[in-house]
Amino acid sequence: MLPVLRRIVQEVNAAEDLGHALKIIVARVKETLEADVCSVYLNLPGSDQLSLLATDGLQPEAVGRVHLSYNEGLVGLVAQRAEPINLSEAHSHERFKYFPETGEERFHAFLGVPILHYRRVLGVVVVQHAAPRRFEEDHEAFLVTLAAQLAGAIVSAEITGELLAFNPSPGRAAARVTGIAGAPGIGIGRALVCFPEKDLFAVPDRVAQDVPKEIERFRAAVERVQTDLLAIKERMGSLLPAEDRMLFDAYMLILSSETLNRGTIDRIRQGTWAAGALRQTIEQSVADFQGMENDYLKERASDLKDLGQRILQQILRTEQNPKQSFPANTILIGHELAATHLADVPLEHLAGLICTSGSASSHVAILARALGVPTVMGAESLPVTRLDGREVIVDGYEGQIILQPGDEVRAEFARLAQEEKELDKSLLSSTQGDAITPDGVRISVMVNSGLMADFLSEKTIAADGIGLYRTEFPFMVRERFPGEDEQARIYARVLDLFPQKPVTLRTLDVGGDKPLSYFPIEEDNPFLGYRGIRISLDHPEIFLVQLRAMLKASRRHGNLQILFPMIGSVMELEEALSLLERAKTELFDEGITVPTPKVGAMIEVPAAIYLTEHLAAKVDFISVGTNDLVQYVLAVDRNNARVASLYNDKHPAVLCALKMIVEGAHRQGRSVSICGEMASDPVSIPLLLGVGVDSLSVSLASLPRVKHTIHHFSCDTARDLFNHALKIDDPREIAHLLEAAMVAHGLGALVRAGKS
Ligand code: PEP
Ligand code: MG
Repeated sequence: MLPVLRRIVQEVNAAEDLGHALKIIVARVKETLEADVCSVYLNLPGSDQLSLLATDGLQPEAVGRVHLSYNEGLVGLVAQRAEPINLSEAHSHERFKYFPETGEERFHAFLGVPILHYRRVLGVVVVQHAAPRRFEEDHEAFLVTLAAQLAGAIVSAEITGELLAFNPSPGRAAARVTGIAGAPGIGIGRALVCFPEKDLFAVPDRVAQDVPKEIERFRAAVERVQTDLLAIKERMGSLLPAEDRMLFDAYMLILSSETLNRGTIDRIRQGTWAAGALRQTIEQSVADFQGMENDYLKERASDLKDLGQRILQQILRTEQNPKQSFPANTILIGHELAATHLADVPLEHLAGLICTSGSASSHVAILARALGVPTVMGAESLPVTRLDGREVIVDGYEGQIILQPGDEVRAEFARLAQEEKELDKSLLSSTQGDAITPDGVRISVMVNSGLMADFLSEKTIAADGIGLYRTEFPFMVRERFPGEDEQARIYARVLDLFPQKPVTLRTLDVGGDKPLSYFPIEEDNPFLGYRGIRISLDHPEIFLVQLRAMLKASRRHGNLQILFPMIGSVMELEEALSLLERAKTELFDEGITVPTPKVGAMIEVPAAIYLTEHLAAKVDFISVGTNDLVQYVLAVDRNNARVASLYNDKHPAVLCALKMIVEGAHRQGRSVSICGEMASDPVSIPLLLGVGVDSLSVSLASLPRVKHTIHHFSCDTARDLFNHALKIDDPREIAHLLEAAMVAHGLGALVRAGKS
C-alpha cells in the first residue's frame, strides 16, 4: 500500500488548493480501501466545531452544512479521544448521531482516524461501509499514516488563510506560527520570499505583473533549453551510447509536450509569474509520473525535475527578468537566509526577517540583531512558497509570526513597536557616558560588527570601541579572497571609526555556518570540522596576507587589537602568534614599521576553558565567544531549530565554565571580555558582572539597554546573584531569578516587549 500512499500524498501536495486536495483524498481513499464512503471533517480556525469539508459517498450537498462539536457523534468522539475508532456497526454505538442531510443511514461500518499535528486535533478522516463489517487492521494503519501526512498540508492552509475560505462565520482569525526569537523587535510589512536559484521547488507563488511578458519569458526559456540540448547532442552524439541518445530525444519530447507548455501557460494566464507557474506544472507532472506502476515511467520524474531546473535557470536569466526590488517594509523570508541576503536589501526598507531553519545563534540572526532587524528563526512549518506578497507581522520578542492579522491585532503590534522605539530613544540619551555600576566600577562596553552599515547609527558614539569585528563578512560578499591592499583598506576604515579607542579585528573564522563560495569545504560535521584558526594555520598564504593587511591598516591610529578564533590548544595559539611575528618582520624588511597590536585569544572551545590560564599567559586579553562556547559545552548545534530549546546560555554548566575562564585569566592578570551574544542580552548582564568580567562587546542595537542595565546593578548585588544562580540546577529557574532581579531593579521593560 506504500506506493499508493505515496502517490496520494504527492497528488495532494501538487493540488492547487486545499479544496482540490481534499477532493483527491476522499476519492483515492475510497477507491483504495474499497469503501463506500470517505469524508474529511476539519476544525476551522476560530471555530470549536468539526465541519464536513469533503466527501465521496455521502450526499454532496452536505459539504459545508454539517458541523458537529467534539461531544457530538462518532466523529466528535474520534477528535475527543485523539485516537482511531473502528466499528462494524456504528448505529448501535451510544455516540452515534444521525445527520439527515448526509444520507448516511445506509452505512453501518465506520472507521474514523484523527488528523493530528503536534498533539493538536486538526480534523478527522472517516471511511464507511454499507455492510456491517469491521475495517481491516491494514486499512486502519493506512488511514493513520495518510492522516499524519495530511496534517502538514492542513497546517499550511491554516497559515496561508486558505482554511478561512471554508469558514461559514465571517470572523477572521489571525494565523500564528511559532519559531525561535532571533532578533528583538516588531516588524510589520509584506513578505518577500528569497529562494536559491538552483532550487525549482523553492520558487514562490508570485503574481504576474505582465502576463504576455511572462508567457514570452517561459517560451524563450524552453526554446533556449531546446537549443542547448540539441547542441550538446550534436557535439557528443557519436560518443554517446544509443540509450543516452534516446534520453535526449525523451527530453525534447517533454520540452515540446502539451502538459509542460499548455500547463504552464494556462497557469500564467491565471495570473502566476512564469517561474511559479513552471514549478506548479512540474510538481503536478512529477506527482503523476511517480504515481505510475511502471518503473521506467517512474524514472522519468527525475528527468522532469532536471528539465524544470534548466528552464527555471533560463527564465531567471532572461533580460526581461525585472531586477529584484525591495519595497518599503519588506519582510524577507527564506529557508536558508545568509548574511549576503541581508546585504542585498536597503536597510531602511527591511522591516523583518524570517528564516525557516537556524536558531538564535545562527550568524544571520546575529547580524540581524546587530542591524536591529526583528527576526524569527526556525519557523519550520511555514509554507514559504505560498507567502510572497502577504501581510506579515514578525514578533522578534516572542519568536512568533502572525499572518493575515485583523485590524485589532495589527494595531496592537503597532502600539508595541512604537513603545519599543520610544524606550530605545529615551535610553539612548541616558547612556551616552561611561557604563558605571552604582558602586563605581567602570565596565567597558564595546560593539560587535561585521558590516559597515552597523555604523550609520548615533549609538556608535556611546561605545568604548569595537570588541569584535568579524572579518569573514567582507570575505563572504566577494567572489574571491580579497587581496592585501583591498583588505588593508577595509580594515583601515573600521579602525578609523574609533581612532582613540581599541578596535578588535578577529582573524578569519570561516567554516561552520559561514561558508565561502570560492573556498568550498564538504564535511559531515562542519562545526566540529575545518573552521576558524584551523584553516588559517593550514593556509599561511591566506593568514599572512590578512595579518599583514591588519598591521598595515593600524599605522594611522595604533588602535588595533587582533583576536584569534577557535583556539583549542596552546600550540595553536603559539603558531598563530609566530605567524603574526613573521608578518611584522616581513613588513619591517620591506621598510614598513607597524605598531605592536594587543593580541587576544577567544575561548569558545571546551578545551580552551581548561587551558585559559596557560593561554592567557601568552596574550594580552581573553575574549569569550559564548555563541560557540554554549554550543560546544552543551553539545547543541547552534543552527538546529529542533534542539534550540536546549541551547541555553544560562545553563549551570555554562556558568561554571565562565567562572573557570574568568578566574584563570585573572590569575594571569589578563582582562576578560565577553563578545558572544550573551553579552547583548540585558538579562545576562547581572550574571556577567557577577562572575567578574571586565568588558563586554555587544550588538549595536542592544548597546543602550546593556549600558542602562549596568547603571542599575552594583557589582556586589551581581556577585550575590551569580553565586545564587550557581546553586540552581534548572536553567529556567536561573532565568526566572534574573528576570525577577531585573524587575526589582526597575528594569522590567528590558525583560519583555513594551514599556509596561
Ligand atoms: C562566538 O562564538 O560567540 C563568537 C563571537 O563568534 P561567532 O558567533 O562569529 O562564531
Ligand atoms: Mg565563534
